[in-house]
Amino acid sequence: SIMPATLSAISNGARKGILFKGGVHLENLAALKAIAFDKTGTLTKGKPSVTDLFIRPGLDKEVFLQSVYIIEKQSTHPLAEAVVHYVKDHNMKDRGIHSALSVDSMHEIPGCGVEAKINDIPWKVGKRSFIGDSLAGSFYGNEANRLQEEGKTLVYVADDKGVAGLFAVQDTLRETTKEAVKSFKDQGLYTIMLTGDQAATAAAVKEMTQIDTVVAGCLPEGKVMEIKKLKEKYHTIAMVGDGINDAPALAAANIGVAMGGGTDAAIETSDIVLMKNDLSKIAEAVRLSKRMNRIIK
Ligand code: ADP
Ligand code: MG
Repeated sequence: SIMPATLSAISNGARKGILFKGGVHLENLAALKAIAFDKTGTLTKGKPSVTDLFIRPGLDKEVFLQSVYIIEKQSTHPLAEAVVHYVKDHNMKDRGIHSALSVDSMHEIPGCGVEAKINDIPWKVGKRSFIGDSLAGSFYGNEANRLQEEGKTLVYVADDKGVAGLFAVQDTLRETTKEAVKSFKDQGLYTIMLTGDQAATAAAVKEMTQIDTVVAGCLPEGKVMEIKKLKEKYHTIAMVGDGINDAPALAAANIGVAMGGGTDAAIETSDIVLMKNDLSKIAEAVRLSKRMNRIIK
């Protein structure tokens, strides 16, 4: 049966926008030693916009944009939404999609990107390693490095002739991210960022947030592996995420925390939901948990 002190703490949390799926999660928070975060949509708002676009010289811009639009329209990834929005806004206002383009075998690879055949030509849209590191590396290399150092994420496009284009996408930190990270560190928690994004972009976001450490280039299973390592070292750890690709890591952590605005998969596998997407509420919940455990014991 649930203790009165737990019950009152849970309703106290609910009023503040922290939803506990059981009293045990609130009790466990008092023992928390480390906390891991996904980047896009968790530390950042997940409402990015395109700031730069490079297209391979000689390539038909219209075909390029139409193809990218068709492919990214399939995805609900925040980066895909940014790309679709950009193409619509800048290049397709009154024209719509070419009916001459025939599309097949389209599928999304979580944490990597989307591939499809358009008029029998294979296309890929996604991260550098998905396109091929050496191929992508030689495409506007200096510009690409500079953009990543500014914390921007790169989305590569490839066709049968190599890299067709490169989008730089800028996301912004949530208003409460910096303050939340500071309170976790003040509480003596070790902070970690786990992201599918590339090292250079992740390093820039680490610098902005002052998070202790970062693991970049993580596939969904990679995030789970990191969570397991953290559990061995710190015993009680939390993972905070929003995406389909975070769901396995949320389940693997002692305490899985989902952003309220996140995907259904993340919310379903989590133990705690942040209704207002406010990370500083977790620090409040840790304080609440410590106080509550003192009352119970
Ligand atoms: P994060 O862990 O930061 O939330 P993800 O694991 O969702 O990031 O994605 C990792 C990387 O894969 C992104 O930085 C992006 O380069 C690429 N990517 C994944 N899905 C897509 C997509 N639909 N369109 C473009 N790029 C994608
Ligand atoms: Mg995410």
